[in-house]
Parts: sequence; C-alpha cells; structure tokens
Amino acid sequence: MPHDAQAQAGGPQKLVIRNIGLVLSGAMENPILDADTIIAENGRISFVGRAKDADQDHATTIIDANGCALTPGLIDSHVHPVAGDWTPRQNQMGWIDSNLNGGVTTMISAGEVHTPGRPRDVVGLKALAISAQRQFANFRPSGVKVHAGAPCIEPEMVEQDFKDLADAGVTLLGEVGLGGVKDGPTARRMVAWARKYGIQSTIHTGGPSIPGSGLIDKDVVLDADTDVIGHINGGHTALPDSQIRCICEGCKRGLEIVHNGNERAALYTLRLAKEMNELHRVILGTDAPAGSGVQPLGIARMVSMLSSLGDLPAELAICLATGNTARMRKLDTGIIEVGRAADFVFMDKAQHSAGDTLLHSIQLGDLPGIGMVVIDGQIKCQRSRNTPPATRIPMQIPI
Ligand SMILES: [Zn+2]
Repeated sequence: MPHDAQAQAGGPQKLVIRNIGLVLSGAMENPILDADTIIAENGRISFVGRAKDADQDHATTIIDANGCALTPGLIDSHVHPVAGDWTPRQNQMGWIDSNLNGGVTTMISAGEVHTPGRPRDVVGLKALAISAQRQFANFRPSGVKVHAGAPCIEPEMVEQDFKDLADAGVTLLGEVGLGGVKDGPTARRMVAWARKYGIQSTIHTGGPSIPGSGLIDKDVVLDADTDVIGHINGGHTALPDSQIRCICEGCKRGLEIVHNGNERAALYTLRLAKEMNELHRVILGTDAPAGSGVQPLGIARMVSMLSSLGDLPAELAICLATGNTARMRKLDTGIIEVGRAADFVFMDKAQHSAGDTLLHSIQLGDLPGIGMVVIDGQIKCQRSRNTPPATRIPMQIPI
C-alpha cells in the first residue's frame, strides 16, 4: 500500500517538512530555532533540527516549505462559540473555518454566552457547559481545536456544583461578570472552588460589552483572583490606565489582550508588562464573535499591531499568541518542541510588503501571508483565502 493510503487507512503517519526558512518556536526564552526540518509522527512533533540529522524515511506526507517561516498554530485565548461553526451573534456560518485561514488552530471559550435562551439557573447552566464541552470535543470545525464548556457563575452556585462540573469534564469558567456574580467576595469564593477542582477561570474586565452586561473594575478583578485577567484592555470599554496598572502590578495572573478591545489600552498593558519584565504573562484573544463581529485575522492583526506600535520584536509577538497561551492554559500545543502537537502555520511576508523579511514586515505593521496550516500533523488549509497572499508558499510533494 502506498504510504499516503496507509495513513488514510489509520496506519502510522509521518509528516516530513523540509526547507523551512525560519522556525519560530513560540517560546519567549528561545524564539528562533536553528532548524530547517521538522518531523511529526502520528500528530506529534518527533524531530526539530537540520535535514542532515533527520530520519526522513517512510514519510506519509512531505511538505517542501519553500523557504517559508513556520510557527506554532495560533491560539485564540478568548472566543464565544455556540454551536459548531455557526454563531448567532452576527448570524454567521463558518467563522471558525475563517479563523483557520487566519492561522488559528486552537480556541478557548470564555463562555457560550450567545446561546439563544441561555439558561441561568444552576442546573441549566451546568447542563449547557457540559453539553458545549462535549459538542466541541466531539466535533472540530475544520479541524480547529475548540476548548469549550465554560459556565458563567451565578450567585446560587455551591461548591458541589464546581465538583460536579469538573467530574463531568468541564475545565474552564466563562468570564466572571457575564453571569449574576459581579462582586469581588462572591467571585473570589467561587473562583477558588473552581481552582480546587482544576477549572481555570477568567473575568470580564472593564465596562459593559453590550446592553445587559456590567462594569468590572480593578477591585473586583483583583478580589476575584481569576487565573486570567480577561480582556484587560476592555471588551471594548477599558478601565482607566491607573486601574490597568494596579491590576498588572497587583497580581501575577495572565494578562489577556483582545482584538475586540481598546487598542490604546492594549499598548499600555504591553508597555507595563515590558517594564515589569513580565511579558510571559501576556496572551492574546479576539473576544469574538461579539458586537464587533468576527475577525478571521484577529490574532494575526494583534501580533502585527503589538509588534509594530508596541515596538516588540515580531518573533516575541508571535509568542504572545502561541507559547505564552499554551503554558498558561496548560495546552500540549503552541510551542515547537518534540512531544507537542504538530500544529503549524506556514507564513511568509505578504506580497509587496515594504519589509525585507517576514519578521521585518510584521514589525512594519503588515499582516503575514499564510501559505498553509497543519493541525495534528495533517494539512487543514492551503494558501489562506483571507490573508494577503504570501510571497512564497509551501508545497506538498507527491510520494
Ligand atoms: Zn467580556
């Protein structure tokens, strides 16, 4: 049987990627790797290095990167999914597939809050969370890994509810503040219960998003002590700079910057994190779908915006959207290293960018051109239909 047919039949899979021009690791401490070849076996990275040292035999898929850069799959730390690849928020189909074309391979739900008729009683909200967790675990839209099932806490909840959720497979809380709990002490008690049972938490920071949501200021944020400070740059309405500074300096939790937030506040947060030498705390999300719509290129746009206006080397800006998030969210993706999931984006500078290289083009504020996206060692998207065209694109080599 030919190798590719063998792979399709469920046999061993071996992906060999050759001629990579630049490997961006996603890890801030070592963002550029000395490598031109990556091998993944059965969806996991098994080799990163030079071609002469690689065992390329028995490949089931071969990609010639054609000199493009390779990065980890981008991670959107803040999405609001509802059902498969449909969102009622802007009544849009295929928004996750569009994000795949923007290089996003993993998404994390901050609550399935746009679900029509969303239940707010305790039994109902638990059922919704468990159902959403199952739906997205069972079905990956266009291959994208969506971690969903993120209940928004209500004042009637007791400790046993968090244990029940964890026992049922729920690993996330939706944004604190989008449910009925909007005060610090109650939030703190419930976030601690969640943490006790291994459930990660986030919070809505800033002014109300849409009619019906509320203000969460620095006192509530610091009191609640969630694992991630959700959209510290507002969603959209940001807190005053003095409060953003209090949050950054007042805790060691994750600082999430979102596309659907205040861009000036995003840059202020980035500057504070740099001053504090705590860039590892910064992670990126879109906070989409939302009133602002969906942004298929939202994460790439954040990388370019923060790199160019925030004066951050592009290879580090990529880390905010990959390795930082993976570490904070305890994901097995987001970094190019042996053992991790083989989730990759092939990028090159967009055609006619003023930049000399991919990194230079991002630092000038241009979007990267995406030429291919791989998830778990399988090609999920060829040349992106959404980014400006990449100057060079990778090619799959027939075996
Ligand atoms: Zn929010």
